[in-house]
Amino acid sequence: MPTDLTLYLAAPRGFCAGVDRAIKIVEMAIEKWGAPVYVRHEIVHNKFVVDGLRAKGAVFVEELDDCPADRPVIFSAHGVPKSVPAEAARREMVFVDATCPLVSKVHIEAERHHQNGLQMVMIGHAGHPETLGTMGQLPQGEVLLVETVADVAGIAPRDPAKLAFITQTTLSVDDTADIVAALKARFPAIIGPHKEDICYATTNRQEAVKAIAPKIDALLVIGAPNSSNSKRLVEVGRAAGCGYAQLVQRADDIDWRALGALKAVGVTAGASAPEVLVNEVIDAFRARFDVTVDLVETARENVEFKVPRVLREPA
Ligand code: SF4
Repeated sequence: MPTDLTLYLAAPRGFCAGVDRAIKIVEMAIEKWGAPVYVRHEIVHNKFVVDGLRAKGAVFVEELDDCPADRPVIFSAHGVPKSVPAEAARREMVFVDATCPLVSKVHIEAERHHQNGLQMVMIGHAGHPETLGTMGQLPQGEVLLVETVADVAGIAPRDPAKLAFITQTTLSVDDTADIVAALKARFPAIIGPHKEDICYATTNRQEAVKAIAPKIDALLVIGAPNSSNSKRLVEVGRAAGCGYAQLVQRADDIDWRALGALKAVGVTAGASAPEVLVNEVIDAFRARFDVTVDLVETARENVEFKVPRVLREPA
């Protein structure tokens, strides 16, 4: 007899509006211009999604130099430094920018502060494509990066009275609040965003994890190891008291032995993980347990972003 297990399914989870739009952009570009269409960097951080688009005719490259000038190129949802579209335009390439509008909003904020003579502090993860893209909106030295509260003590701005901060969109809401508090304590004049830079999808997915954490023995986050918002969900689960919280790309990655005897498990998915992988994980539990699925919904989302006009026009 299989043992009973309650599977708490977090909602919202999985695809956000920015990821949905980025995938549509690649699909519509292939439809419009035929294959191959080049994509600079993984369009979104998910192998399943990338492999699916590759099968349809997308070619993923890391740099613009890897794209032939006579094929269209798409820039990923994470955003790109200003130099990238500038170079594509110089080479007279057809390009479509799939940067999430909520990342573009941060780029515009940075630009506006720069024009007003402020130096920027960016709270983000070094090396992440979104951080590189956002820092690359301004000339070198105009954006100081901090990753932790400890980093705040180490930065040396030009003029401590002329500073503003921005953040990566996929950070931990709670960790970021601590870093912002440290920034405000050291630089009382620092200006923050009018509206939080951490996006609605990141915030909502973290809230849902906090709601299920007290009920579960283990949390599985479906997402890629390079997906920032997915990794944050694991951390949020642990911080909310869940002793076992793991990132899995799909059902095959589940370490059943480490999970041990379970009565309740939580399942969520990062913003770039498709629902088909969530269903795969639920099926894997159903194969081993007598599963009752309990949906824990902490918010409803109805955000949608239009694809760029060039793709809405006929070829
Ligand atoms: S996680 Fe947020 S910022 Fe990133 S693509 Fe999704 S909606 Fe946009």
